[in-house]
Amino acid sequence: MKELLEKVLDDCRVHIRHGAVATYIPELAKADKNEFGIAVVSSESKLVCAGDFDKGFTMQSIIKSIILLMALIDNGTDPVRDLVGVEATGKPFDAFNYSDQALNCEHINPMINTGAIALCTLIKGRSYREKFERLLDLTRLISGNPDMQVDEQVYMSEKQTGNKNRALAYMLKAYGMISDDVEEVLDCYFRACSVRATTVDLARIAMAFANGGISVVDGKKLFDRNYARYVNAVMMTCGMYDGSGEFALSVGVPAKSGVGGGIMAVVPGRMGIGIYSPALDPKGNSIAGIKALEKLSENLELSIF
Ligand code: GLN
Repeated sequence: MKELLEKVLDDCRVHIRHGAVATYIPELAKADKNEFGIAVVSSESKLVCAGDFDKGFTMQSIIKSIILLMALIDNGTDPVRDLVGVEATGKPFDAFNYSDQALNCEHINPMINTGAIALCTLIKGRSYREKFERLLDLTRLISGNPDMQVDEQVYMSEKQTGNKNRALAYMLKAYGMISDDVEEVLDCYFRACSVRATTVDLARIAMAFANGGISVVDGKKLFDRNYARYVNAVMMTCGMYDGSGEFALSVGVPAKSGVGGGIMAVVPGRMGIGIYSPALDPKGNSIAGIKALEKLSENLELSIF
């Protein structure tokens, strides 16, 4: 397996030059485009890694899967489904142009910015700081890594310059989809996007989703199987934004990408995969990361279809 992962990285490295690191906030623009790593955790809890597997990067949109999970754990499925829909938008993750004049739950899903920002309001906690701390604790629990932390520089950069997200959040408020203070809701979202992870953390989180919420390390129940199904289904149709259909064809497993360059891929019942390569395609997905998943899917017959 290790040789396969190394070969996949070698074969896919050429694609890095066709991508560009995220520049919407200054901190992310500092990423080293050539870093490329992968980690795979199997259902027997065996870990295999290659390349820059231990480099840290911010989870960015990958945390949306855990925001959704936390909202489900705290409220059950109905309140979550009533606030944020599950249909793919076919539009960029930070799009403004909704098809109707009004914005409602059917126009958004948990994997785009508006959906994730709205779901932060459903996380339980007396303050948005407490909501975030509970989200971070859940992330640490599922990854099995109690040391996961916020990257303070990225967080400050998101908070100071993330005006597009600010605009999206005010739009949610204008249409009555959030009632709390917008800056507080956004603070939780910005911190969440700035949680640092490695490919190993992503692979372990993915394996928990692949195994119906049961830890492959000690057999403990981390979360309800129905919630794993919910999150996996939404990742399958919306996790790679407006590239989700193409990804379903070429790779064929639930996955979530982030503009930090990470991709978390869930192979139900079989494995969890974490990839890092910060050069992105125009849709904001790791360009070499997708190629690597295509190769792996081909070699190991990972597609669920
Ligand atoms: N922090 C990013 C943003 O809000 C997350 C989006 C992403 O990773 N695609 O724009």
